[in-house]
Amino acid sequence: MEIFSLMYLSRSLVDPEGLEMREIALSSQRNNARRGLTGFLYYDCDTFLQVLEGPRAEVESVYDAIKRDSRHDRIHLIASHPILQRAFGGWSMGLYDGALDGGLLTERFGAGLIDRAQEADAPEMMRFLRDLSVGRDDIYALPSHG
Ligand code: FAD
Repeated sequence: MEIFSLMYLSRSLVDPEGLEMREIALSSQRNNARRGLTGFLYYDCDTFLQVLEGPRAEVESVYDAIKRDSRHDRIHLIASHPILQRAFGGWSMGLYDGALDGGLLTERFGAGLIDRAQEADAPEMMRFLRDLSVGRDDIYALPSHG
């Protein structure tokens, strides 16, 4: 079966430490496992960067739901293509709270990334997410309260 990978960047409209973020994490946990999806979601005070991977129809169906979600806006597709092997096979949806580290994405790619999304360096962003995932054997790093 063809495995597909999709990456997007969006502007977050939720508190990274709040209940809405916890709900996103829980929906991802529940739905992705059922759909055979894996991936990784970086979030901080104003940005989401997510990779979804799995059967193409499932990836596209979840992405359609995500695009309609009012908890973020300015959604930019960065990459979508078939892959030979999953990059985040251990996670139904790995989560990384970049806000705790003062905005790692901004540190790596500069401020105002969402305004430069058209020129995004997809392989570099994938490396960024892979680097964050290395050495983490927890499946979900949920926000600490809720
Ligand atoms: P539920 O999980 O039952 O919904 C839980 C609660 O979330 C609802 O009670 C409601 O309060 C809230 N909610 C649900 N949909 C919306 C909405 N459209 N707008 C505002 N609040 C809402 N879903 C996945 O399945 N896999 C993912 O990997 C994934 N990643 C996401 C990443 C981001 C950045 C965002 C913003 C959302 C993501 N979602 C993901 C959620 C997705 O957009 C849908 O909300 C979800 O798939 C609906 O699942 P459900 O029908 O089981 O609803």
